[in-house]
Amino acid sequence: MSAALNPTLEPIYEEVLRRNAGETEFHQAVREVLDSLGAVIARHPEYADARVIERICEPERQIIFRVPWVDDAGTVQINRGFRVEFNSALGPFKGGLRFHPSVYLGIIKFLGFEQVFKNALTGLPIGGGKGGSDFDPKGRSDLEIMRFCQSFMNELYRHLGEYTDVPAGDIGVGGREIGYLFGQYKRITNRYESGVLTGKGLGWGGSQVRKEATGYGTVYFVDEMLRGNGHSFDGSKVIVSGSGNVAIYAIEKVHELGGTVIACSDSSGYVVEETGIDLNLLKEVKEVRRGRISEYAELRGSSARYATEGSIWQVPCDVALPSATQNEINAEDAQFLVKGGCRAVGEGANMPTTPEAVKVLTDAGVLFAPGKAANAGGVATSALEMQQNASRDSWTFDYTEQRLAEIMRSIYDRCAETADAYGTPGNLVLGANASAFIQVADAMLALGVV
Ligand code: GLU
Repeated sequence: MSAALNPTLEPIYEEVLRRNAGETEFHQAVREVLDSLGAVIARHPEYADARVIERICEPERQIIFRVPWVDDAGTVQINRGFRVEFNSALGPFKGGLRFHPSVYLGIIKFLGFEQVFKNALTGLPIGGGKGGSDFDPKGRSDLEIMRFCQSFMNELYRHLGEYTDVPAGDIGVGGREIGYLFGQYKRITNRYESGVLTGKGLGWGGSQVRKEATGYGTVYFVDEMLRGNGHSFDGSKVIVSGSGNVAIYAIEKVHELGGTVIACSDSSGYVVEETGIDLNLLKEVKEVRRGRISEYAELRGSSARYATEGSIWQVPCDVALPSATQNEINAEDAQFLVKGGCRAVGEGANMPTTPEAVKVLTDAGVLFAPGKAANAGGVATSALEMQQNASRDSWTFDYTEQRLAEIMRSIYDRCAETADAYGTPGNLVLGANASAFIQVADAMLALGVV
């Protein structure tokens, strides 16, 4: 585990543990930020005096609700829905919805907490929130997905609004689900409020590049980090874990920048292909057939090796982009990465690297890009979608991508400069946490005790 906390922060963390018992992912996310804040409060005692840190660790509002629906066999199913409205100092609550059986309050709170800082880093006017359900979309028919989304929105709609709370997708929630959610919102409210959800389809209020943005943005960020240290993606071997929306578009951008993605995965196994993953086939399997990575491997035949034993991180690579889910790289995996010659890790997913693994990597001199900075391109482009909706406009792909690239560059500069200012050059974890915290904390101080 990490070193002892600053004595001012220790009781704050103890209180977070006490009042959020059993929510281990939330504890982990808070701890990681607090580890960076000792240096900040030494320079800015006003934050501690006004108890801003305690306030930032407590969501503004937490909504938990029953989601009843009827499956194709006519059986009544009951799921649990969540929306944690974490912090609105910088703008309306903003953050995705995750549909996955592992979802419980602790996961949504960790994601919501991260989102507050991530959204601040974009420099755009968005607060942080997150929601979702323990609903498992795997194997469900289109009609079941639609009925579930409609029931979920029957409760959620009353908490949303262009100026209040604007959800989007996350794991298990993509364009199809956003469509069903938006349709039900529109029906209940009798209002075509495009700005109430992001990640919409291109024909009905969505933004160009939103689908690609998290993956592209992660690669842009890591590219900046590599260049800042005399490297680049060109000619590099890259592993991208996962095979969902983030992974697919990270692979696309790595290939555009001259790297080769040699492995990707899903929750059942991973595929290794030294000559490079065939992106068109991967898109066909995942986006059209909604299939598994094992199907991809079968269709590729002998050029691809499919494995269910061991871990994807045992494959030697130059750059690793964990883009599947939280805590997917543990200390042992990190040791494999170091041994395999990996020089940079960029988090496409939220909190995919355990604190112990981050230590193994950074002790070994591996460049490390934390998710709340590296994967902020998705939510940044959501904010661009909100801008377009508010002005009833729509921008071209090229213009939107250029905006995304600028945002990612400025996030990198901001994190790197803050790391320098605190005497820890290259420590982007500290740079991201300190810089985002200061922005949110200053806004909270200005707005008073609310
Ligand atoms: N779920 C994404 C994230 O983790 C995007 C959220 C959004 O676009 O609001 O940042």
